[in-house]
Amino acid sequence: MVERAEVQSLINRASKPGEPMLSLYLDVDSAREPNRQRGFEAALKNMLRALEKRLGSDRERKLFAADAGHVQQFVASLKPTAQSLVAFCRETDGFFWHQQLRVPVRNHAHWADAPYVRPLLELFDDHERYGVVLADKTRARLFTVFLGEIEESTGAYSPAEVRHAKSVGKDRLHSQPGFDRRAEHHALWHLKHVAEMTAQLADAQRFDRLLLAGPVDATSELERLLPKRLRSRLAGVISLPIEATPAQVLSAALEVERMAAQEDDLKLVRQLIATAAKKTQADTGLAATLNALQQNRVWRLVFAEGYSPRGCRCVNCAALMPEDRRACDYCRSAVQPEEDLIECMAERVVAIGGTVEQVHGPAAAMLKEAGHIGAFLRF
Ligand SMILES: [Zn+2]
Repeated sequence: MVERAEVQSLINRASKPGEPMLSLYLDVDSAREPNRQRGFEAALKNMLRALEKRLGSDRERKLFAADAGHVQQFVASLKPTAQSLVAFCRETDGFFWHQQLRVPVRNHAHWADAPYVRPLLELFDDHERYGVVLADKTRARLFTVFLGEIEESTGAYSPAEVRHAKSVGKDRLHSQPGFDRRAEHHALWHLKHVAEMTAQLADAQRFDRLLLAGPVDATSELERLLPKRLRSRLAGVISLPIEATPAQVLSAALEVERMAAQEDDLKLVRQLIATAAKKTQADTGLAATLNALQQNRVWRLVFAEGYSPRGCRCVNCAALMPEDRRACDYCRSAVQPEEDLIECMAERVVAIGGTVEQVHGPAAAMLKEAGHIGAFLRF
């Protein structure tokens, strides 16, 4: 599981003024059509070629060729196990960091003195950290789900509780009324303890949302026992056996996350379209959004998954425009083509303190109807 601290240490270790490095974000998801025949290798080649065209000195070309060669070789022998690959490479000092992620990223290659970590940091902002409490009347397990991966915390609930669980198990063998009553009493004691511990763990491990999982009788009791302040973070209750494997817990948690994200995306796009209709604080469509960006008014850029228009950039004032322009709309200077207009726009939005959001599924389809892209505006 990649953590923010690791990215920070990556920046510290890898940034060297005057020593450029290659940063790569590559969609390697073999479930997607373009990647069926390892299409990501061709995508990488195209991105590297586009970068190469911008290089100045011979020294830079030589350094770039070495990094590009290494990365291409690595990707050629890559066995995708997740949805995307992130890699940073600098051959001169043998620096190579790579990681496959179980979340999608936009294809992008970057050549600069520091590792280009913005997309990685955006992933941390965009994805919520889920705590999953899997409990029955005698046992409890805790999982963290983040960026499509799962980790089980061993010993999250105290050992006292485990010993207690065993004694309840023995009691049950007898099945006498007195023992049953005691078992119920123990179950309540146990779930109270789990609820209290969960509240502490949720704060310590910075869970954005909480999921309860287990047999229904245990989860409904646990839900009732949760402190009020934690209940607002409760994202769902899932029915699962206490012996569920981490893979089963992950798959159930990701489904809840997917539904929540879909709901959030739809809300965002509906709000964007409604606001744009009033022609005050939002715009939709590429031309209008570019125009707002030129005026530094964009604070939240929203675009549909899969939308990847080309564009052009003024060689004089750096304004970004749709690809059909022959001269700059603003100063009439010459323009040069930009392969990845969304990335150029995103860079500019972030530079003026705004945020960039890609929407998926039904929300993407809705935004497509409204021109694929739009933005909430500052004034
Ligand atoms: Zn211009």
